[in-house]
Amino acid sequence: MADKRDYYEVLGVDKGASDSEIKKAYRVLAKKYHPDMNPGDQEAEKKFKEASEAYAVLSDADKRRKYDQFGHAAFDGGAGGGGGGFDFSGMDMSDIFGDLFGGGFSDFFGGGRASRSGPAKGANIRTSVRLTFEEACFGVEKEIELTLKEECETCKGSGAKPGSQPETCKKCNGKGQVVMTQQSFFGVVRNVQTCPDCHGTGKIIKDKCPDCYGTGYVSRKQTLPVSIPAGIKDGQCVRIREKGEPGQNGGPRGDLLIEAIVSNHPVFQRDGDDIYSVVNISYARAALGGDIRIKTIHGDVIYTVKPGTQTNTRVRLKNKGVPMLRNPQNCGAHYVTLVVQVPTKLTSEQKDLLLKYEEALNGPFETEIKDTDNNQKEEKPHKKKGFFKK
Ligand SMILES: [Zn+2]
Ligand SMILES: [Zn+2]
Repeated sequence: MADKRDYYEVLGVDKGASDSEIKKAYRVLAKKYHPDMNPGDQEAEKKFKEASEAYAVLSDADKRRKYDQFGHAAFDGGAGGGGGGFDFSGMDMSDIFGDLFGGGFSDFFGGGRASRSGPAKGANIRTSVRLTFEEACFGVEKEIELTLKEECETCKGSGAKPGSQPETCKKCNGKGQVVMTQQSFFGVVRNVQTCPDCHGTGKIIKDKCPDCYGTGYVSRKQTLPVSIPAGIKDGQCVRIREKGEPGQNGGPRGDLLIEAIVSNHPVFQRDGDDIYSVVNISYARAALGGDIRIKTIHGDVIYTVKPGTQTNTRVRLKNKGVPMLRNPQNCGAHYVTLVVQVPTKLTSEQKDLLLKYEEALNGPFETEIKDTDNNQKEEKPHKKKGFFKK
């Protein structure tokens, strides 16, 4: 008890280590000393427990604070007793491992511990739904067609022909897993594997149900109503609980994940909750100012252009963007870039007016052009002569 090592020292991290540093350090130690990797090695098991205990405390902000303040004394006097003296009862270690190894902890070490014997949640199913730009902005009720496995009515999910019963697998005694002993470079390795006879179910079906071929499930096409929330973004998923693959040993079904595939819009571009668009305004409107009509997803907005507006001026229309997913009463902004158009086709009347305007602003216009024209004409032969001389 007295020579209990400091938790930071156990994990080999600084007192100020971040959560991710602590996790990383523990991951390395857990892999190194895990009992599955070191069968029969008591020293490794001790190290594994020591590291797990240190991680359990330092990964929990509340416990870490207490430990920093009181040291090991913070957790003394509780249950446990003996040399270790740490109470793991309130802690879900599988959660820690699941978190650390992405749920594949026991698979990584070649076993299927716990997951086989107890009820297990079924796998998730992924599908997708196409949405128009507007549907994604404002939400929509959709119907999704998919094939779901359902409990076979004939055998009530047992997989056995009515009147018969599945038998307990003799190879694994119903555990669903078997221990294989292998000679390896490092010595004898005990490997826990899924039972090859019953594929982990622990049961053998002799007389298979004719309707489901012994699987206990039949696939059925279904149409599911799906509520797509306003503000969903391209690539985001809607989760429908327990509409995935059936669970094992009485576990719940997995979830159905529906990914939104959002179409582009010819006018609007979306970035998160904001919308971007370009609106052309005439030269006169830009110079004189005045009201213009701007299309938004919420309908047209009348906007007053300021006199003397330059091209590429960006205007922000507050609350005219996409409704926010978690807070649809609020919307993002709509940004409009005002682009001043230069006319490309002019009638002679319009040309005259434009000339008059230019002369009023900058003095005589035509003579200036003629001058440059003449200069060019005079210069051109000159240049050519020079070019041929060389
Ligand atoms: Zn059946
Ligand atoms: Zn078996």
